[in-house]
Amino acid sequence: MAGATVPRRLGERLRWRAARLTERVTETGTARTLVFDVPGWPGHLAGQHVDVRLTAEDGYSTQRSYSLASAPDGESVALTVQRLEDGEVSPYLTDELAVGDLVELRGPVGGWFVWRTEQKEPILLVGGGSGLVPLMAMIRTRRAVSDRTPFRLLYSVRSPDDQLYTAELRRDDPGLDKTYLYTRSTPEHWPRPPGHVTASDLSTGGWPPDFEPTCYVCGSTGFVETAAGLLVALGHHPGRIRTERFGPSA
Ligand SMILES: Cc1cc2nc3c(=O)[nH]c(=O)nc-3n(C[C@H](O)[C@H](O)[C@H](O)COP(=O)(O)OP(=O)(O)OC[C@H]3O[C@@H](n4cnc5c(N)ncnc54)[C@H](O)[C@@H]3O)c2cc1C
Repeated sequence: MAGATVPRRLGERLRWRAARLTERVTETGTARTLVFDVPGWPGHLAGQHVDVRLTAEDGYSTQRSYSLASAPDGESVALTVQRLEDGEVSPYLTDELAVGDLVELRGPVGGWFVWRTEQKEPILLVGGGSGLVPLMAMIRTRRAVSDRTPFRLLYSVRSPDDQLYTAELRRDDPGLDKTYLYTRSTPEHWPRPPGHVTASDLSTGGWPPDFEPTCYVCGSTGFVETAAGLLVALGHHPGRIRTERFGPSA
């Protein structure tokens, strides 16, 4: 049977493209940012992701989704991959893929979990662990176009050593407020004891519901369900809460 005909723009997004690794950046002991050159890349919006396909010499092939970490930048795209010790794909990407190697990449994917520069309402970003990645693309896009939309970021992470983009987030970014929540260990003299995100964290570090912010929540399934549930309980309209789940709650 012949394949269905799809609009040209969609067809472009469904097409696998060769992506060559041009740079590896060590973010933490277990996370790497991988920068790829992707000839013909159509561009993307902050918050979108790609599918990455790996094919072994014997023809075995597997694919995973990764959020775009970078602001649109021609044919260059950056992903940040967190290594899962028992994972099939992430240890290969973080430890073995070398500069000059090729993978296949398809996208960009996603039209809901995106921030567009036309949006003028306040923005709340709530990220758990590697769930910061697409939120960082939003922060970088805002900075790249000198947008002044008020942003607030709540970033929940196990420990200071697990923090992504530490130096970049330390820089002053006018209109971006940042709150760090640690779940297992904190920096010395940190006022908040380690623990999972609470309603109080979201109300002090976020926006009041009557400011009608759009809230972007990303991380493991468990983190996203908890944080989105707390936002609704605080009075945020479910229609203004956009979520992206990366996988199991572990
Ligand atoms: C839209 C989307 C965007 C994503 N963006 C990113 C990103 O920017 N950076 C990133 O590092 N990952 C991201 N992920 C997760 C990524 O797709 C993979 O699931 C992850 O890298 C694990 O793949 P793996 O092959 O190493 O593990 P697998 O071999 O698939 O799984 C190994 C074990 O880990 C568990 N597991 C799988 N995924 C997760 C997870 N996310 N958290 C905890 N345990 C898990 C499995 O249940 C299994 O027990 C994203 C997922 C989605 C759906």
